[in-house]
Amino acid sequence: MNEASLLETLKEYFGYESFRPLQKKIITSVFVGRDNLVIMPTGGGKSICYQLPAILLPEITLVISPLIALMKDQVDGLNANGVPAAFLNSSQEEADKEAIFQKIDRKEIKLLYVAPESLQFVDRFLTNGKISLIAIDEAHCISSWGHDFRPAYTQLGYLKNRFPSTPMLALTATADKATRNDICRQLNIPNAKKHIASFDRKNLSLDVRQGIKRFEQITDFLKNRSSESGIIYCLSRKNTEELAAKLQRKGFKAEAYHAGLDHQERSQIQDDFINDKKQIICATIAFGMGIDKSNIRWVIHYNMPKNLEGYYQEIGRAGRDGLPSDTLLFHSYSDVIQLQKFASNARNQDVQLAKLDRMKQYSEALSCRRKILLSYFGEYLEADCGNCDICRNPPEFFDGTIIAQKALSCIFRLKGAEPIGTVIDVLRASQNEVIRRNNYQELTTYGIGKDISWQHWQQYLIQLINLGYVEIAFDRHNHLRLTEQAKKVLFDNEKVPLADIKEVQAQAKTEKTTIAESSLFERLRKLRLKIAREEDIPAYLIFNDATLKDMEKQRPMSDSEFLMIEGVGRKKMEDYGYRFIKEIIAFSKEKRETKKPKKTKKGSSLEETLKLYKADLTVEEIARQKGVTRNTVFTHLMKLYDEGKNINLKRYVGKSELKSVKKAKKKLDNPNSLKAYFEHFEEAISYENIKMSLKILEKE
Ligand code: ADP
Ligand code: ZN
Repeated sequence: MNEASLLETLKEYFGYESFRPLQKKIITSVFVGRDNLVIMPTGGGKSICYQLPAILLPEITLVISPLIALMKDQVDGLNANGVPAAFLNSSQEEADKEAIFQKIDRKEIKLLYVAPESLQFVDRFLTNGKISLIAIDEAHCISSWGHDFRPAYTQLGYLKNRFPSTPMLALTATADKATRNDICRQLNIPNAKKHIASFDRKNLSLDVRQGIKRFEQITDFLKNRSSESGIIYCLSRKNTEELAAKLQRKGFKAEAYHAGLDHQERSQIQDDFINDKKQIICATIAFGMGIDKSNIRWVIHYNMPKNLEGYYQEIGRAGRDGLPSDTLLFHSYSDVIQLQKFASNARNQDVQLAKLDRMKQYSEALSCRRKILLSYFGEYLEADCGNCDICRNPPEFFDGTIIAQKALSCIFRLKGAEPIGTVIDVLRASQNEVIRRNNYQELTTYGIGKDISWQHWQQYLIQLINLGYVEIAFDRHNHLRLTEQAKKVLFDNEKVPLADIKEVQAQAKTEKTTIAESSLFERLRKLRLKIAREEDIPAYLIFNDATLKDMEKQRPMSDSEFLMIEGVGRKKMEDYGYRFIKEIIAFSKEKRETKKPKKTKKGSSLEETLKLYKADLTVEEIARQKGVTRNTVFTHLMKLYDEGKNINLKRYVGKSELKSVKKAKKKLDNPNSLKAYFEHFEEAISYENIKMSLKILEKE
């Protein structure tokens, strides 16, 4: 399968101009008939890896998927893009199933989604050769090593025996190595090619804050996010309910979600969230797995997760559309203690405790958090990320030797027999029952740290723990004890650098532009919601936020311009183009009538490209500077060229290329089809260069 047809199919059915990293490699490997294992983070773009081949392959593609709710969404989404798809599961009536079987017989379906429990229905009439591809979504569910084991998945091993000549594509977002190998073993695809994508999700900002005054911090965080969807993860059901109630009282559209609710309630809440009727979900980790909502703009962890896998998966639910999204984790000492308790009661407590430890290191980090996070998943990040709280606001170190000496000698005087709270109470000369009972006010260290606040002491002690001077005896009521190393500070005057503690600033992000209610984006969102209600499908299945943003930026006013929008394929252009274009035109007119001759964004963006072009920047440089793709820059340059601006397209097209295109133009049967050129040149000339050559020839 050549690249041109792949790209054309990508644009035609999904509306995208180019593949994401790895997608092309994976798809090519599918076409040569190999088995493949794909490890890609949530939002990485796994679905296209089997949906696009399914369109081009001769027979049906079978997709095994664990969640009935998700299945329906995916099928609705495919149908909205003009791809014939259906699903089979236990919730359907016999007659519905029969209708699908008939469609399969008539070859009217390209993708069939099936829950593993329902495989037996299909088995009867699909034989080897009648299936072109088998995709196993959420493949980690097959492995009991994974965090989401589903017994029904274990029977999938027979598929390879039953359809030996059909390539299999297993997909998961679970990174850990043991699980990966287990997946291939159990699916009987030992020679599967492994494609491991980067787990870096650059559009997610990372922020960790001390878990004090959490509610105030949250409402502050929400100030500039009045129309954005988000999830707040809590540890307990009770927490979710209390928090949701408090937020409701403040006027937020918040709802609690946990496994204690009945099925109907839960699916109602999910639907409301997906359709933007409810803005905030306060949830236990039960929430999210079955949700494919691409415009979740933020995720907050009210409590600390028990490991980095869980944390990463949960924050990964934000920003699947690739737009900037924020994540915030509250770190609290008491959460750590609580999780420690859970972990030590678990069967594999060593593993659990070690994982919790990594989670803790991440939360207490004093260097780029993304580096730490990615290194956990075996990835090395060369430069600091610039999009985490530490990068934005690096800690300043000072000589903390005296503070350390005070703390360590206090722990020494307490004979390592008190937890952190009491240590701080003694340092700060508090008077309470424990102190009186033990006569701690008699100690020489009583009150030597009065000048430092409780919060600060807690932070310093955590740093001393992380530096290895103090340890927590989890097996003995979390008492703080000195380590060997502490002696160097107490007796050899070893210097201890401590990080300055920044006051908790619960400030909302200021650089973020709030979406004015009157913006075009808002208007398009409302239109989308209206259509979603008419058609009774989730709003994001019509267009995702990134696509609406692109419309706002480009302001398409004709079908051909509309088709150039990221995320608009042919079917959606035909189905919805007219209404969106109408809205855009109406909006532009209103703006003009209200006598605000503000340049449209499209104009200014084009002008900016022109300016940069005139400044002699290369296409790559312009793309980087503007934060757009090369394709967009080329599109701009061609538009400017059309408008008669002095753009020398020949700068980008070689003489011989131009000659070849000229020749082809005369020779080809259908010289108006880009595809024809592509196939003619067998990919030797890129898409943009053909387009530009044609433009040049047009004028000549
Ligand atoms: P995953 O299944 O890996 O979590 P999805 O397949 O749902 O991810 O894709 C996440 C988002 O990225 C979707 O909104 C999808 O339409 C979009 N996407 C996928 N591939 C591309 C691409 N090549 N260009 C632009 N957007 C893409
Ligand atoms: Zn960073």
